Formats: sequence, C-alpha cells, structure tokens
Amino acid sequence: MQPIDQFFPLLTKPSKVIITMHQKPDGDAMGSTLGLYHYLKALGHDAVVISPTNWADFLDWMPGISTVIDFEKKKDAALALINDADYLFCLDFNTLSRTKNMEAPLANAKGARILIDHHQQPQTEMFAYGVSDTSKSSTCEMVYDMIMASENGAHISLDVATCLYTGLMTDTGSFRFPATTASVHRMIAHLKDLGLDHTVVHSHIFDNSLENRLRFIGYALLNRMEVLYECNTAIMHITKQDLQRFDIKTGDTEGLVNYLLGIKGMKLGAIVIDRDEERKWSFRSKGAFDVNAFARKHFEGGGHVNAAGGRSDENIETTLHTFKEVLKDYYNQLQ
Ligand code: 5GP
Ligand code: MN
Repeated sequence: MQPIDQFFPLLTKPSKVIITMHQKPDGDAMGSTLGLYHYLKALGHDAVVISPTNWADFLDWMPGISTVIDFEKKKDAALALINDADYLFCLDFNTLSRTKNMEAPLANAKGARILIDHHQQPQTEMFAYGVSDTSKSSTCEMVYDMIMASENGAHISLDVATCLYTGLMTDTGSFRFPATTASVHRMIAHLKDLGLDHTVVHSHIFDNSLENRLRFIGYALLNRMEVLYECNTAIMHITKQDLQRFDIKTGDTEGLVNYLLGIKGMKLGAIVIDRDEERKWSFRSKGAFDVNAFARKHFEGGGHVNAAGGRSDENIETTLHTFKEVLKDYYNQLQ
C-alpha cells in the first residue's frame, strides 16, 4: 500500500469512483463516505456510494443518502459499477470481509483500491494506496485531513462539513473518548466557520427514536443486564423474542452497550444480540483493557482498544456461557 498522498495527483483527472464502507454502516462509515462523495463530485468525478447492507433510520437524513446504493437490494447495478470503477475507496474498515457479500467483488475489481481507516491490523496488501492511523478519532477526521493535505480545502461545502461532523461526533461518543484531540476540536472550529449547524446533526442522530425503542431500552436494562462485580464487567443479552416484541430495527440497539460502562467501576461492557444469521457481540472498555485483542482471540472480531465487535455461531445461552468462562482468564487484568 502506497501512502495516500501518492494518489493525490490522480485526483486531477475526472474518474469513475466507487466509495464503500463496512456492513451495517454507523455514523462514521456513512459520514466519511458521503463526505468524500460530495468532495469528489465537486472535483468533477463520477462518484457513487455503495453500502454493503441497509443502514439505520437515524442516518437517513444525511445529505446525499438518497443516492446511496444498498448492495443487497440492487446487486446487479452495484456489481456493474464496481467492475467499471477506476478507483474504489474503502472507508472505515480494515479487512474486505467487513463488507460481507461485497468482499469477493471488491477483491476482484480491476480498479485501484484505496484505504482510509482507523482500525487495527489493516489488510494493507489488498490496497494500492491508503492511510491507516489507529490514533485517529474517526474516518471522517481522516477524510478531512486528506482533503486539507491535497490542498483542496476550498471544496469543503456545507454538505461535506455536515457529513464529516456526523462521524466525528458519533465515533468520539460526542467528543468524550480519548481520541478526541485538539485537532478534532480545530476541525470542528473550521467546519463551524463554514456554516455547520451542529445541533441539527445531534437531533437527527439522538432525538429520532420511536417510543418502542425507549421502552425496549428500559426493558433491557431491567431484565437483560447482569453485573459481574468481581470482574468489573457488565453484560447484556438480547433475545430474538425481545427484538420481535419491541419491533427492533437496524440501528435501534446502537449505543445500548454504552450504558453498561455507566455503572461505577465497570471496566468492560459486553452485549450480545441474537441476530438471524449469528450472535453479534459488541465490547466496550475503559482504560487499558484491550477489547480488540479480546474480540479477535475469542469472538472472530476486532475493532479498537476500547470498542470492538465480534460474532459467534453458538446459540445465545452457549455464547453467554463461553463469554463468562473466557472472562475468568482476565480476572487480574480487570481489577
Ligand atoms: P460496534 O460494537 O459498534 O458494532 O463496533 C465497535 C467497533 O468494532 C467498530 O469500530 C466496528 O467497526 C468494529 N467491529 C464490530 N464488529 C466487528 C467484527 O465483527 N470484526 C471486526 N474486525 N471489527 C468489528
Ligand atoms: Mn470509525
């Protein structure tokens, strides 16, 4: 993988560009891809954003979202675009497998793949150009850095600013996680100077739930949470029946795991959700406990030091039992 600045000269010629992200995109994945989309369009490129799967309703207001192709819904059109692209930007994921059914089409594409990402252990051999920096708060911050480094800052429109702010805000937990550096705040100051209305973004993301989602959160906290004080760990499990009972949609479980670290003294929070195809784990930690390593070792996953995800083919009771067994080995680290 060559450094991303080697790619900048290629930006001067209008090209066919695909921009994609990890499956079930979050605010950073959708914000960075759409921010880059608006920027590349302004430079005269023929750019299209493809998401491997559907996305949460709380992202459905973003500037440009109506142009995003859902690979699972429009596979033939998406495949044609992927095969025809000169460049394929891969944002907010480290390995092609994070794009689910798009893994093979992306791997076989003729165009050059370009990585912009902040997750650990990137698959660098799969990319012609790229930048991977685990110290960065978000992929949105990295797209901003790229735009500024390529001396095209004048192309940061209000749409670019709104999209990039979204991921910056969601990936930093509203500017509270350790990766919220002075550079992050300087970036926000710049976006504000450009006219960004940040309160609109916060409302769209956080004040957009239906009543059932709040009832569900209350139910889950009351009935599905277990606090393992001896390991400073709180866990939660959500069954298929829970998802059905409260009519839970993509995105409705987002942020639930964060409540677990809200209990005084907790160092590890873990939630498992009984999805159709797998049991999906989310892990969050405070301090030195490395959930990326934990998820990689025990749950076929990965992510960041303090936020990671994983999966299991076991049923929900068995994977919960496995978690508790594995946790015993980490007793000392969690004191
Ligand atoms: P979340 O728990 O919010 O789904 O994910 C937390 C972080 O871990 C995100 O940065 C996400 O990209 C990453 N992540 C989630 N699930 C997986 C997974 O199955 N594999 C890998 N490598 N990363 C994951
Ligand atoms: Mn991210």
